[in-house]
Amino acid sequence: MPVTTHKYINGAVTVVWKPEMCIHSKICWKNLHEVFDPTARPWINIEGASTERIVDQVRQCPSGALTYSMNETSEATGENT
Ligand code: SF4
Repeated sequence: MPVTTHKYINGAVTVVWKPEMCIHSKICWKNLHEVFDPTARPWINIEGASTERIVDQVRQCPSGALTYSMNETSEATGENT
């Protein structure tokens, strides 16, 4: 069965949310409501907090529904990828 993924990207990080894996623990939106707001559309405001804070919160997702990857930029790495 294909897994639905939604991506939210700011300049530095990409947050991926897989709704089928979300167990609705509420941890993300109780701890960082500026970013994770289930009443908003889109429900993740990727500009709502610092990248560091968002990454910290994503790491606390107990189900693996939230993951992240750092965006690579040619300025940061010095590479043209
Ligand atoms: S922390 Fe993870 S499992 Fe809990 S509500 Fe947020 S996305 Fe869903």
